[in-house]
Amino acid sequence: MNKWDDWHWQLANRITTLEQLEQYIELTDDEREGIQDASRHFAWAITPYYASLMHRTDRRCPIRMQVVPIGDELLDKSGLADPLQEEKNSPVDLVIHVYPDRVAFCVGNRCATYCRHCLRKATMMGKPDCDFSEANISEGIEYIREHDEIRDVLLTGGDPLLMSDGQLEELLVQIRAIPLLRR
Ligand code: SF4
Repeated sequence: MNKWDDWHWQLANRITTLEQLEQYIELTDDEREGIQDASRHFAWAITPYYASLMHRTDRRCPIRMQVVPIGDELLDKSGLADPLQEEKNSPVDLVIHVYPDRVAFCVGNRCATYCRHCLRKATMMGKPDCDFSEANISEGIEYIREHDEIRDVLLTGGDPLLMSDGQLEELLVQIRAIPLLRR
């Protein structure tokens, strides 16, 4: 397979520095400074494929605006770090339980490319201190098992598909063993 078409290669070669980014787009001094400032607070990484879709010079290119950090991310004085109050509605790590019959199960905090608009970028995305353990996953499954009102489990994060096939299969087997639909 051509390396470019291999998602493992895309992940391993993500753009995480100004020098790499400037192979794809032109940056002004202001933009360089903004990227450095924003990236001290929020994760950023862009796959080469995604970067290849960006307009080289147009700062308003929507694809570029979705993934290239800007200094203004730090100037949002009216926004909330956790706009959906997910931390308050998290009875155990990884599980967000807002609606009675469904939960969001955040089984990873990493994505191949980090969106600048991500609602979880200030609370968990790409943060090393939010890396999850197998114990966290087990605790989440136990919570779901113990709450009969839950009928839907949304796997999210981050991107659950960044788990290995084996990890994902093990997780699905455990969730499917919970008789959610027969409750
Ligand atoms: S969780 Fe969704 S919105 Fe957030 S960075 Fe990943 S893909 Fe983007």
